[in-house]
Formats: sequence, structure tokens, C-alpha cells
Amino acid sequence: MQMKYKSTRGKAAEVLAAQAIVKGIAEDGGLFVPEAIPAFSDADFSAMINEDYRTRAERIFAMYLTDFTAEEIKDCVNKAYSAEKFGSDNAAPLHKLDDDKYILELWHGPTCAFKDMALQILPHLLTKSMKKTGVDKQVVILVATSGDTGKAALEGFCDVEGTKIMVFFPNDGVSNIQKLQMVTQKGGNVNVMSVLGNFDDAQNGVKQIFGDKNFADKIAEKGYQLSSANSINWGRLLPQIVYYVSAYCDMVKMGDITFGEKINVCVPTGNFGNILAAWYARAMGLPINKLICASNENNVLTDFIKTGVYDRNRSFKTTISPSMDILISSNLERLLYNLSDSTTVAEYMQQLKESGKYEVSESIRNAVTEVFEAGYVNDVDTKAEIKKIWDKYGYLIDTHTAVACAVNKKFSGDIKTIIASTANPFKFNGSVLEALVGEVDTKDEFEISDKLSEMTKTKVPASLAELKTKTPRFDDCCKKEDMEKRVEEFLV
Ligand SMILES: *Cc1c(COP(=O)(O)O)cnc(C)c1O
Repeated sequence: MQMKYKSTRGKAAEVLAAQAIVKGIAEDGGLFVPEAIPAFSDADFSAMINEDYRTRAERIFAMYLTDFTAEEIKDCVNKAYSAEKFGSDNAAPLHKLDDDKYILELWHGPTCAFKDMALQILPHLLTKSMKKTGVDKQVVILVATSGDTGKAALEGFCDVEGTKIMVFFPNDGVSNIQKLQMVTQKGGNVNVMSVLGNFDDAQNGVKQIFGDKNFADKIAEKGYQLSSANSINWGRLLPQIVYYVSAYCDMVKMGDITFGEKINVCVPTGNFGNILAAWYARAMGLPINKLICASNENNVLTDFIKTGVYDRNRSFKTTISPSMDILISSNLERLLYNLSDSTTVAEYMQQLKESGKYEVSESIRNAVTEVFEAGYVNDVDTKAEIKKIWDKYGYLIDTHTAVACAVNKKFSGDIKTIIASTANPFKFNGSVLEALVGEVDTKDEFEISDKLSEMTKTKVPASLAELKTKTPRFDDCCKKEDMEKRVEEFLV
């Protein structure tokens, strides 16, 4: 039996996984969801406990990508989660803080943040999906980025056969390190360019190109087709289910829990993708008690989970955990679908579009609170948490992970909890050092990292340290009206 994918808004045809991945978003504007959630058998679990990360990944992928062969899945997984790319054979290792807190380190990939877990494999899933669906064109990925996604996408697509990638970033809107990471990107199929303006200018420019039918026709003649590496693509969500299952299996294997024992999972949340993957793992039968949704002061999800009202009409706050500075959490739509139906989801999304707000029914609200807890912390408490964890355990965490640790405290009973750690602390070195010493007397990123490293005897990840000596490959800047032309020039 082939697994079909439906739109959360119910007005698009059902497709197989390969088409869902190629399309990214359904024609009715909805998100693709599997028609039924597969369940783990006891035999699956007893096998997985003794398997390595990649084998566990293959098993879980096979349950959802029924139109892929076992060899195709294996090839994708091996290319993505190699020891070369993730530093060891376990792409997502657990660090035990104490008897009831386990940090799931999701930042061992090439860019030191959790986006790598999905973006290292998406290019391989996508190129195989295109072949399967009869698309014989080269895929061109366009990204507008304000931060981590651009670099993670560049690393993921770098030199992947049959693909090209072009990333636009706002010339006033990314940190120095983030810019350096992008403009020094290697690879024969990549291009990076800054856009005069802010993130919205870059984002609108990319959206315009995607909406231009003439442009699509023009590049099709040259053998190209546009696609996006967007976080709503099913091909980005699926890989994230794996590490929760894998972490649980590791805990059983270590003898820290007996199989069947329930744990909590706490996730620093922005777009709701990472925590939704944990929800899928739970729905598949992973023994999870509560999912704890941790936010910074952009606490739209805290309010939603506590009150059933989603209201984006509030001021946007810039925080020290910038990857969670989000007011529209797109992946929430998938949860709503799973707790109701496509008619209801389409209605809520219409209300969100028109008034920035919707209130879910009592039955959805009850279903949400049965599984989710939620809380948020401000920047001061986030920094205090970094210091507390360092003082107590000698373990360094980044600002996003700190949000999760601080929120988790409000719910900790004696139940063991996996806390998702989404970035290496050196990626947010300034705020982390400030948390430890109070004031930082330099603005030089490399000096900050050296200080932090010296003080904590923690190694700066090689990929960040080597930025200091790398020469930029890309220094072009364009006006937003010229973005399309620049893409065309890239596709010779
Ligand atoms: C993207 C990101 C998040 C938020 O994850 P979502 O899946 O969008 O909820 C949290 N922390 C870091 C470091 C990220 O890059």
C-alpha cells in the first residue's frame, strides 16, 4: 500500500511522497500531510534499540516514503548523515545533564545548528523525487534568508548533482558571522548575493520570482525548474521525527529507562516544525508524556496553547534567540489538521489571513492541552539560565537551548525529559559570553569566541573558527528590482 499525502485544506488532489516533496506546498495553499500516521510495532522498537542512527532513519523514512525503494532511501540517508558531515556516526547524540535532564544535541552538522538535520537530506530526497515524478530538469533553489536557513541550505545543496542554489540576504539584516558563513560558501553550483534593503525586500523579491510564469517558461527552455527549501516541505519535517525516536532508543540502550517508560520532550520553538516532529513521533507510538513548547517573548504559541486563541496582532520583539522570533508558526496548521479536519483548518487559516487571529473549538483546545504544555522566558532569564547550567554542570548551551531549559523547569516533576538543543553555543557567542561574564568588551566575533573558549575550555567548532582565514567568494550586491535578472545570469 502506497502512502498518500493530502492537503491540510482539503482542496487539492492526493499525491505520493515524491510529488509532495517536489511541490512543497499544495495547490490550495495547504500543507501536505500523510493520510494516516504509521505506527511502530514492538518489533520495530526492539530492532531500533540496537541500530545506529542511519539505520533507524532508514526504517522511519520507509514508513512514510513508500514510493521510494530501500536503496534510494539508504543512499539519501548515507549521503546526509555521514560521520564526515556530523562528526560521528550518531548525528544527534544525547548529553545527560543529570538523572532527569537529557540534552539532545542537534547541532553537530556543518553549520552548527539544527536546520542541518533536515537540510542535509532534503536535496537528496528532492533530486530523487524529481526523477520519480518525471521531471528531467535541474532544480534551482532560491532562498531569501535573515539568518541560519540560508547557510544550512547552501551546505545541504553544495555540489549535489542536478541542483543549483542561489541565496539572497539583506545587506542590513544578518550578523557578521552569518554573512561570513554565506559569502565564503564553497561549491560549483552555489551563488550568494546581498540585496539592498531589509529581509522583507529580499523575501518579496524571491516571492515575485516564484510567481512569474514568464520567467518559469524562460528558464524551463534552458532546462531549469525553480523550487524552494522551505520549512513547510514534508521533506524537511520527516527527517526531524527520526532524532526523537533515536534519542529514546539511546536512553533505553543506556539502561536509563525501560522500554515503554514515558518521557517529556521540551523544544525551543519558532515555526513549530521541530516540536511537530516530536508530536508525530508520539503519534507513531513513541512513549512521550508531554510536549513542552518553549518560546521567547514572541510568545504567540504560549498564548495559543494556554487559551486556544492564536493572535499574531502584537509587536514583534527582537531577542537574543533570533531563530525563534516568529509570529506566524506555519507548521501549526499540520497539528490543527490532525486534531480536526480540512474544512476547519481552511476556515482558521482564512481568519488568520484576514484578521491575524483565530480561536479553535473546545474539542481542539482540549486535544492540544492533553499533549502540550507551554511557557516563555525573556532575555534576562535566558541569560541567567545559561549561567546556571554552566555553573552547575560545566556544560555550555546557546540562547535557544537556554529558553527550553528555563521553560522546562516550570514543568519538571520526576519525569525524564529530553531537551532539544538547536544551536552550538559558539553560534550565538556574544550573548552566551555576556551571560557568563556580564559585559563583553569587544565586538570582534573571533575575539569573543576565543574568550568564551578559553574561559569554558570548550572548543570552537572548526567550521566557525576557520571563517577567520577564509576569503569571501561572493561580494555582489543588487537592487531588489534586479534579483530576477541576477538569477537568470546565474543560470547560463
Ligand atoms: C529554526 C530554529 C529554531 C526553531 O525551530 P522551529 O522548527 O522553527 O520551531 C530554534 N532554534 C534554532 C537555533 C533554530 O535555528
